[in-house]
Amino acid sequence: MSLSNKDIGKRIIVIGAGIGGLASACLFAAQGHRVSVYEKNSTPGGKMQQLKKNGYRFDTGPSLFTMPFQLETLFDMCGEKLENYLLYTDLKPLTRYFFQDGLVFDNYLDKEENAREIQKFAPESVDEYNKFLKRAEKIYHKTSHAFLFNPLYSFRDFKKLKYIDFLGINAFSTVAQKVDKKITSPHLRQFFKRFTTYNGSSPYKAPATLNVIPHVELNQGGFYVKSGMIQIVEALVKLGKKLGVQFHFNQIVHQISVENDRVKGINLKNGTFVESDAVIANSDATDTILNLLSDDAISNSRKAKQSKIEPSCSGFVMMMGCRKRWSQLRHHNVFFSKDYKKEFEEIFDEKHLPQDPTIYIANTSWSDPADAPENSSNLFVLVNAPYINGNQNWEELSEKYSSFIIEELERRGLDGLEKSIEVFEIINPKDFLELYRSNRGSIYGTSSNNKFSAFLRPKNKLRGIHNLYLVGGSTHPGGGIPLVIQSAFNALELMNRSN
Ligand SMILES: Cc1cc2nc3c(=O)[nH]c(=O)nc-3n(C[C@H](O)[C@H](O)[C@H](O)COP(=O)(O)OP(=O)(O)OC[C@H]3O[C@@H](n4cnc5c(N)ncnc54)[C@H](O)[C@@H]3O)c2cc1C
Repeated sequence: MSLSNKDIGKRIIVIGAGIGGLASACLFAAQGHRVSVYEKNSTPGGKMQQLKKNGYRFDTGPSLFTMPFQLETLFDMCGEKLENYLLYTDLKPLTRYFFQDGLVFDNYLDKEENAREIQKFAPESVDEYNKFLKRAEKIYHKTSHAFLFNPLYSFRDFKKLKYIDFLGINAFSTVAQKVDKKITSPHLRQFFKRFTTYNGSSPYKAPATLNVIPHVELNQGGFYVKSGMIQIVEALVKLGKKLGVQFHFNQIVHQISVENDRVKGINLKNGTFVESDAVIANSDATDTILNLLSDDAISNSRKAKQSKIEPSCSGFVMMMGCRKRWSQLRHHNVFFSKDYKKEFEEIFDEKHLPQDPTIYIANTSWSDPADAPENSSNLFVLVNAPYINGNQNWEELSEKYSSFIIEELERRGLDGLEKSIEVFEIINPKDFLELYRSNRGSIYGTSSNNKFSAFLRPKNKLRGIHNLYLVGGSTHPGGGIPLVIQSAFNALELMNRSN
């Protein structure tokens, strides 16, 4: 990617300092542009934050780092080496899974170690597991260049789709249908279905093409960043500053100013107008289209179309600093529900919190003792939750539901949990909306509960407005750190094309 001299030195405004905003700021600054980031909160990182309290440290958002080559590429494009900014490592096991019939499954990246584990409870599925991952890898190779590493913006991008055999990528069955067909073990069925939640969708609705996700974690690797995920944010901010990016915190962008289909700048909530040659919005795409653009700037039909896109699920998060360690916990832990299908019906159809939830726990003090005082644990608990739909009073519900989750965890083996808690914080869907302005509190952008989802997400350049770019988990190609970084690559490519 290169720019001609006439394009160097444009004034670029980035709205929001989430991963998409930070990645874009670095990439555009590295190309010689003058970049300013305006962030409503007092700290960068968006949903990727940390909480430190009474000797405990928690990642408050993402806890799993996949496709690190995306971040490495970004640093390379900015003339730096990622390894000089942060270190990451794989975990053994990747994750420990607890089933309600008492079975515990340690899932390893190492194929032989993993096969030995499966052999213990489902010898007939050892081969099925490996074949499933081979198929996932095949889908990845068939689709990644067409869907992931492709802006899907103009005719030349869509030409790449021509070569895809849509039957070969399982676009017409659901994740669950495919898993049930290929895997015999009920435990491994539930295990493979879980990966659809990485982009906030239901395995019973999302196309089986999403079975590429296990390939990303189980073949390519799932990593943890030394000293916490926040190091990714700090690395990007450090890189941005080195490249001359100006950061403005506690600044709410009220509106993007547009004249004759061109962005002129932004109006801040405090009344200030800031002029720019282009705007990159890392704010949630639905919020950007519905609220940051006036009715004169964009048609009502485009606004109506955007408002119909289904958000991903939200999350109910509890952070608990506990004066206790549980020998059965590892770094990543998943306590599965009994009836997975019912759980997703509750979240996406009935739109309430699951009554028998799957509970994820990140217990980073297992691999990094500095994250909790001695003989203590820093438990970050995440339960998939419905996006905000008007059925819940989150203030009332949060206390009740958190007590229920604590009881559930005690029932599922974390004895003495309640008594051991000395630090306690909750983040509910309403908090996600208020903290980050994410559409209806969604945590992964838009859902993939539909075979056309890949085409419905807003693209990284808004049609009809010449110099407005959209990045982040609510835009193409979707949520999660590596895809969000891809959205920044796409924005850069689309700007270069239009020059
Ligand atoms: C609990 C949880 C667990 C997750 N787990 C994982 C995981 O393990 N692995 C993974 O890869 N991903 C995970 N994700 C998803 C991942 O965190 C997101 O996909 C990613 O961080 C989103 O980045 P983003 O660029 O879309 O920006 P966001 O994080 O949404 O940030 C947008 C920023 O824009 C700011 N903003 C919005 N509107 C305005 C405005 N008008 N003016 C100024 N500023 C504004 C917001 O304050 C915010 O800082 C998880 C998310 C959550 C919440």
